[in-house]
Amino acid sequence: MPHAVSLLRAARLTHSVKPFLARRGSRSPRCAGCRLLPSHCICGLRPVVSTDAGMCLLMADIEPLKPSNTGWLIADLVADTFAFAWARTAVDPALLALLADPQWQPYVVFPGEYAAPERVVHAVQPAPAASGRRPLFILLDGTWSEARKMFGKSPYLAHLPVLSLQPDRASEYKLRRSRRNDHFCTSEVAAMCLALAGEEQAAQALDAWLDVFSYHYLQARNQQKIDWDSPAHQRLRALEASTV
Ligand SMILES: [Zn+2]
Repeated sequence: MPHAVSLLRAARLTHSVKPFLARRGSRSPRCAGCRLLPSHCICGLRPVVSTDAGMCLLMADIEPLKPSNTGWLIADLVADTFAFAWARTAVDPALLALLADPQWQPYVVFPGEYAAPERVVHAVQPAPAASGRRPLFILLDGTWSEARKMFGKSPYLAHLPVLSLQPDRASEYKLRRSRRNDHFCTSEVAAMCLALAGEEQAAQALDAWLDVFSYHYLQARNQQKIDWDSPAHQRLRALEASTV
């Protein structure tokens, strides 16, 4: 069954007026499960993770179509991942219903300096304090300027707490250029949220999954074969061994 980001990508493709062309190799067939070339497919490696947390991705217009999008990787691992296309002038009623669902305690994940101080939190309430609600992390998936726009122009988010992350490491994301190493990709942000929610195992699995995806993606782009014993593979295997 395709996950939320896969379905959103398919819907976005249907609505495209002109075909979206990724820069390189876009004509080659891709695995529907991981978007990579069949020779570089990672589907057989996907770790099984259990987590109580949910993820709600608000995705900028063409973000679901980008082969380097990492929201996809979140949906691979976190069963309760929801994905919505963001638009300034409209909101999906299903998103409003999700935000109002009492089983969830939503957090908008965004730097605190852009929010009113009374909304900003740095920790995730443990379940009892949040009246038994499961954390739902709202991630604004797009470029930095798109994310700022989404944050500022989504009135239905304005009443929710803003979870401001305080990363203790630099980003390791290699697939898009950024001038700053404190700009994290979406799956790295999700992993930090899982860690804050006390879901360390899931957090580490997601980071390791990004590592494996990035390695396969770059090997495919450089027309290199996969070393199935690469550091990324070893990291993922070690994590899986520790959960058995
Ligand atoms: Zn695949």
